[in-house]
Amino acid sequence: MFYRKYRPQTIAELDNERIRESLGKSLLSNKFSSAYLLVGSRGTGKTTTARLIAKVLNCDRRKSGDEPCNECETCKTIANGTNLDVIEIDAASNTGVDDIRDLREKVKLAPSSSKYKVYIIDEVHMLSTSAFNALLKTLEEPPSHVVFILATTDPHKLPETIKSRCQVFDFGRGSLPEIVRATERAARGEKLDVGKDAILEIAKMADGSFRDAHKILEQLAAKNNKIELIDVKDLKPTVSVKNINDFLALLENRDSAKIIDWVEGQNLPVKEFIEEIAKILHEDLLINMGVTDAKPKTQLKTLDLKNLLEKLDKAYKELRGTVIAVLPLEVALIEWAQTEETKKVEVKKEALPSPSVATEGFGEARWSQLLEKTKPYNHSLSAVLRSAKPIGLSGKTLMIGVNYKFHLDKLSESKNIEIIEKVLEEIMDTEMRVKYIKQ
Ligand SMILES: [Zn+2]
Repeated sequence: MFYRKYRPQTIAELDNERIRESLGKSLLSNKFSSAYLLVGSRGTGKTTTARLIAKVLNCDRRKSGDEPCNECETCKTIANGTNLDVIEIDAASNTGVDDIRDLREKVKLAPSSSKYKVYIIDEVHMLSTSAFNALLKTLEEPPSHVVFILATTDPHKLPETIKSRCQVFDFGRGSLPEIVRATERAARGEKLDVGKDAILEIAKMADGSFRDAHKILEQLAAKNNKIELIDVKDLKPTVSVKNINDFLALLENRDSAKIIDWVEGQNLPVKEFIEEIAKILHEDLLINMGVTDAKPKTQLKTLDLKNLLEKLDKAYKELRGTVIAVLPLEVALIEWAQTEETKKVEVKKEALPSPSVATEGFGEARWSQLLEKTKPYNHSLSAVLRSAKPIGLSGKTLMIGVNYKFHLDKLSESKNIEIIEKVLEEIMDTEMRVKYIKQ
């Protein structure tokens, strides 16, 4: 994605002029805070800036006054999100809250290989009250090797006590010249032939969001290397089959954060999209009820289909009065995914009578290790494991309880078994096997 590929990698490259001047200058001269709060709407460069701060703090070669080198191991791993001392927490997903709870313990540990341990907490306003309290206690007495970078689209939902502990930077929305600058950088990088008037039109369409500008450019570049004003004006987002299939797969996994991330990444024509999805789900509903005879496109159960259709129908009706085009759809999807998630937990509890006996020999800590260590191999595999449970060890075989058939299918793929067994071997320090049990 252009937005990721052409993230500014130095302070000089930051597109937001105010941020470049204020935050950038103080960073270059090594005036660091122990906590930053980055405020701004989506796609305005908060995450980019957060990673840049982390690089300035930890770059192996940088001297005061210099930019980060972007070549050392630390710079590289921060840029691709794998640095062990830069911990990114998404407060909007459930895991964020748990992470914050044991944050107070974890921050005491020294960084593994860098000068600073950097915690980037995205959408920090989504934290629960108890998580806020844990965070506040840490912010009040931060260890000297820890720097917090909090980012939010909604600063009004943040407790004053948290804000007052941070150095606050307001990103506002990208100005037209700033977005033009960012779009030009990507166009140059991709060796595209884009007219000045076309770039300006893209920047206008992006409406203050760097991310949207990159997305529009990417969409145009997929068709042609030469982009003219007329191409930009003709651009109408479409719903493709691949779009739909990706989305259905995400729906089945019921991970609200992933679903929303996907929707945000698509620049969807919302009305047409809801129509398409509703048609498919309705068809599946009829198939499930035996009214129509065909192969369903999803594995969703009748009740799930009914609930989802109701919510999409409501979202569709709300499209006319909404302030953000995609909002009713997102609200519907979050509501749906979350009710399903609750049910899933209940099912698991019934299936496992006593957790202490059930996970004998392979406790929570090892399980979390397994989830974490699987991630670098395959993100979606780790996500599927997350909704499964360790049942126990039988000799050198770990038995894992799985709730859904499509999860079982995924986990049983030989390449996935290989990954899991390899990771298990690392954790247990002996050759291990894995066996799945459908719950
Ligand atoms: Zn470096």
